Amino acid sequence: MKSYDIVICGGGVIGSSIAYFLSRDRDLNIALVDYKKKGNASRASAGGLWPMGESTGLGCGVILFKTLSKQMSEGVLTSAPAEMKPHIMPPAFFEMAMQSNSMYPWLSQELLDKHNVDMKFEKTGLKFIIYDEYDRLYAQHIANAVPDRQHHIRWIDKQELLEQEPHLSSRALGAMEFDTDHQINPYRLNEAYVEGARQNGVDLFLNTEVTGIERSGNRVVAVNTSMGTLRCNMVINAAGSWAEKICQWATGMPLPVFPVKGQVIVSERLPKLLNGCITTSDCYIAQKDNGEILIGSTTEEKGYDTTNDVRLLRQLALGAQKSLPILKTMNIKRCWTGLRPGSPDELPILGPMPGIEGYLNACGHFRTGMLTSAITGQLLNEVARGKPTSLDISPFLYQRFLSDCGEMVASYHLEASL
Ligand SMILES: Cc1cc2nc3c(=O)[nH]c(=O)nc-3n(C[C@H](O)[C@H](O)[C@H](O)COP(=O)(O)OP(=O)(O)OC[C@H]3O[C@@H](n4cnc5c(N)ncnc54)[C@H](O)[C@@H]3O)c2cc1C
Repeated sequence: MKSYDIVICGGGVIGSSIAYFLSRDRDLNIALVDYKKKGNASRASAGGLWPMGESTGLGCGVILFKTLSKQMSEGVLTSAPAEMKPHIMPPAFFEMAMQSNSMYPWLSQELLDKHNVDMKFEKTGLKFIIYDEYDRLYAQHIANAVPDRQHHIRWIDKQELLEQEPHLSSRALGAMEFDTDHQINPYRLNEAYVEGARQNGVDLFLNTEVTGIERSGNRVVAVNTSMGTLRCNMVINAAGSWAEKICQWATGMPLPVFPVKGQVIVSERLPKLLNGCITTSDCYIAQKDNGEILIGSTTEEKGYDTTNDVRLLRQLALGAQKSLPILKTMNIKRCWTGLRPGSPDELPILGPMPGIEGYLNACGHFRTGMLTSAITGQLLNEVARGKPTSLDISPFLYQRFLSDCGEMVASYHLEASL
């Protein structure tokens, strides 16, 4: 029977980043076990590194804001509901997102230089395109909500915007840009971590399913897989939307991680049409390194459903055509659905479980797992080795979901509006 210091369950960006960071010193025996389930998130992602955009509710938050603003002005709503504000994430998330983002320039270089793998990190910026008074109001709300991050915000007038993005519709009035927000290629990021880890000596068990976890008393001692049992001193749960099952096996406790469906459209390869990433109150659009234009995304709580819905895809496509009219004549290459690993407060769940030895969570990264994979790898390496962490992980501990008497208080839904 094989024996390891650490077995990582799940080889999406989170598990593979952890494998990479743990193996950089080549002093531990590590196994990475992954079986690609339908809807796994890392293969479905847009690959945006958008710490400011994601922390301030661009994307889905702004779509809801626009609907409510219109209802207010038409008298359908008489008082402003809570969602009339941008969906600003808590400071702990902001800090995590910004720290992780700052790692990509050196991390992409290290993976390229040492392991010859390229995640296609591109400095793009993220522009929120303003089409009307609602968009302007929302952008102003965002700017007001982050007073200490003003130096990362740039207001762009119509003329400059159309000079920078000549294919954008002339209906655009201007934009608010975050100079911190960039992109990678999501498949390549995942592959880069896996290949880096492999070259550092990690044993890869791919196409291998975790079927159970063994404990002796309160200590995890082995992982059962479709390829046999792997003895170990520690298990790290990075199983994305399927993390609860691993946690139940390992600890007997529930874990509030659940799938949140996102649908995406991708065009055929096109000549360069966009210089940066853009987001609007209809959709976000990013042209990837290979020329494909990616249009995202819905946010739906539909369990493990991975079907595509033509009505919602049509809405995304129309939204994209409003911004980039040239897309009307382009072909769609494919559409897909991925399952984001959601948590009730939209924050990742990291670190140990009370009363259990040899088990760590690394799950619940919801819509920012690409962005936060770098810091998660670094933090889990530090936690697994019992070192001080480079970021305070207390806001991300499982204990936040427990009452004083140790009972689960969180629901299995997003607390914030989708
Ligand atoms: C449409 C969409 C767009 C997105 N866009 C962005 C973006 O622009 N930027 C960003 O930062 N994030 C984005 N995200 C979020 C990001 O993709 C996720 O947060 C991230 O991929 C989560 O990674 P993960 O490794 O936790 O989960 P996953 O990628 O799902 O990986 C978990 C792995 O564990 C495997 N597994 C589960 N159970 C078992 C088992 N029993 N045995 C073996 N293996 C198992 C799964 O099959 C899977 O391979 C997007 C997500 C979606 C769906």
